[in-house]
Amino acid sequence: MIQIKQVNKSFGPIQVLKDINLEVPESHIYALIGPSGAGKSTLIRSINALETIQAGEIVVDGTSVHASKTDINKVRTDIGFVFQSFNLYPHLTAVENVSIAPIQVKKIQKEQAEEKAKSLLTSLGLGDKFASYPGQLSGGQQQRVAIARALAMDPKVMLFDEPTSALDPEMIKEVLDSIRKLASTGMTMVVVTHEMGFAREICNQIVFMADGKIVEVAPPEQFFTNPETERAKDFLSKVL
Ligand code: ADP
Ligand code: MG
Repeated sequence: MIQIKQVNKSFGPIQVLKDINLEVPESHIYALIGPSGAGKSTLIRSINALETIQAGEIVVDGTSVHASKTDINKVRTDIGFVFQSFNLYPHLTAVENVSIAPIQVKKIQKEQAEEKAKSLLTSLGLGDKFASYPGQLSGGQQQRVAIARALAMDPKVMLFDEPTSALDPEMIKEVLDSIRKLASTGMTMVVVTHEMGFAREICNQIVFMADGKIVEVAPPEQFFTNPETERAKDFLSKVL
């Protein structure tokens, strides 16, 4: 579903992605982990062209994301992205936040889009928050609205960049549970996370990045019990 081939990227003189190669099969969930500054956000943002790349290619469901002929808006409707900061529209209700893109971008009828928004919100445990504004919701609730908003576009792939890092501890679980539920539907996902227990439990592969490179790719059991590289061992000794 996602093919990343020989990707290189620099910010000015600093190379932050170095010869990145990775394939994520359909319905698989990959965790992207590693120290701060490793290039995790840059890589995941490159998948839906929030960042440009200088060399290489990223193909999502057959579409070369960075090719000049590619309609990037179409790509972005196929790829849901959930950020650390929820970025909801403060002046719109939960239902409006979730239905606005389907109405404006996909030209779906308002009633139909709102019905779908309500069903997504309900499935994420927000059945009583349809008319709430972001300011009236907790961080965990806002992040679940953001997940519903991404899902409303019927994406083929979901990308998460540290979805729980801005949340108080007691709200982390409700957001992880939502992602877990999504995993059970067969959604293809890449999740940048510091939640090692979560990564170990739901991900098919752990992708460990450091210094702009993919250092190790392994199934969770193997990665967490018997990492191959010193770099990964060192990282795990600090976070586990
Ligand atoms: P991670 O998400 O793993 O913490 P990032 O992808 O955010 O890492 O950053 C990788 C490197 O790229 C870091 O050295 C960071 O300072 C640099 N970087 C990220 N975004 C920018 C930017 N917009 N301009 C310049 N440097 C950046
Ligand atoms: Mg980051």
